[in-house]
Amino acid sequence: MRLPVFPAPRDDEVLSSYVTRLALANRMRPMRLTAVLGLPSFWKRDPDVSVTPDELAVLAGATGVPLERLLQCSVLPMLSRLHESARPDANPRFLVMMGKHRGVHGVRGHPLCPACVRETGVVQRSWRLTTSVICRRHSLPLIDACPHCQSPLDHVRLHRRRSSRRRLMEHRPGSCPGCRQALPDPPSLDEVTRKHALFIQDLMAEATATGEVLWGDLRLDAREFQGLLESFLQLHYPTRAQTGVAKWRPETSGVRERREVVVAAGERMVDGLVACLRRLREENVRPHRVVGWASGNAGVPDWFRELVFLALSPDARHLPPVQSGRKTFQFTERQWRVIAPLIPPVPRTSRKQKGAREVLQAWCTRNLKGTRQTEWTGKWTGHVSYPAMYRGIKKLAESGVLDQVIGRMLDMPECRTALTAPGTVGALIRMRSAHAGHLWTLMVEEALRSRIVGSLPA
Ligand SMILES: [Zn+2]
Ligand SMILES: [Zn+2]
Repeated sequence: MRLPVFPAPRDDEVLSSYVTRLALANRMRPMRLTAVLGLPSFWKRDPDVSVTPDELAVLAGATGVPLERLLQCSVLPMLSRLHESARPDANPRFLVMMGKHRGVHGVRGHPLCPACVRETGVVQRSWRLTTSVICRRHSLPLIDACPHCQSPLDHVRLHRRRSSRRRLMEHRPGSCPGCRQALPDPPSLDEVTRKHALFIQDLMAEATATGEVLWGDLRLDAREFQGLLESFLQLHYPTRAQTGVAKWRPETSGVRERREVVVAAGERMVDGLVACLRRLREENVRPHRVVGWASGNAGVPDWFRELVFLALSPDARHLPPVQSGRKTFQFTERQWRVIAPLIPPVPRTSRKQKGAREVLQAWCTRNLKGTRQTEWTGKWTGHVSYPAMYRGIKKLAESGVLDQVIGRMLDMPECRTALTAPGTVGALIRMRSAHAGHLWTLMVEEALRSRIVGSLPA
């Protein structure tokens, strides 16, 4: 059946908004239209998420709009880029849940920008994402309840009412379904808040549109990105969720609460991943709080989990060996000529003491091999016993010589791997070395480079 009037869907218009406009253009209530087309259960679920291919085919037949274009009006294409499987019945993460589903209460009001709906008359798809909290065009915060009467906003609800069965209501998503007044613009937000919210929102828009994200100079596919984003967002969930008093999810929360979480995460993420991790370390956040206890859950990529553990607790025991390159360390004669003048002369009495060169080589080798016992025992050929190495390094550190040596080694590219080995950085942090901060950054950058290479398709 072909409808007499069929307007085209607008840019980013969500399906429920389009079908409502389509019905009213044909002088029918939205529920009547779907009944006439033989789609009795269309409005029984949340059509923007749960629309079926069959229902889309009927709508395509009635309007002449290509099925693919109608599918774009639902939120499914966006979700399928974020998640392995975008099952509409599974309450997907990052999607604001409307109404009640499987016993879980979603939010009651549809988020929207009053200025946008006033201008275009349509409700946008991207407003259903939990990260959408501000309108980029008008720089206004989104609202989901009427500022006059607090009624939840819902562009379909008006047409469901008993009273509206007799006469056809106009399509006015810019008016409150409760008090019928025009929705006023909410007070605008300050520059910094806006910047941080839009930072997250723009990354999400990129991820849901292309399946890929460029965060600083880090390229991530959308699935990795959503796992990382979730890790940083949940650090800012309301206190009652953090303490386990209440189960709080952005998917079932109003836009006002979500905005605070998004803004805080935006502030954290705006300078890139390495800066983000540095701040977490300064705040003494434990890695488990960032990536959770169970492995492999919530879509957090393995490389990110490892990176967080490395970056936030490089002083932990059982560190892995460095991934690439040689696993033993020896100074060349040329290198040692640069370093030797820094070493204080050894008093004659302590004949048994090992030379600084052997001690430093043993220490670097141990750090390259990692601190797991299996990596260490039986493989050591450096002729310095374990306790002797520790005594020697401690002595060098206490006299400040170790920091001077490391300063010189930093100028030698061949020494880079040994210096940025997790074992080295962890030991220097414990010894409060002046180089610890700088080497921590180099270590994280190095780890990030080597993990990303393996995890992304070329
Ligand atoms: Zn707007
Ligand atoms: Zn109202």
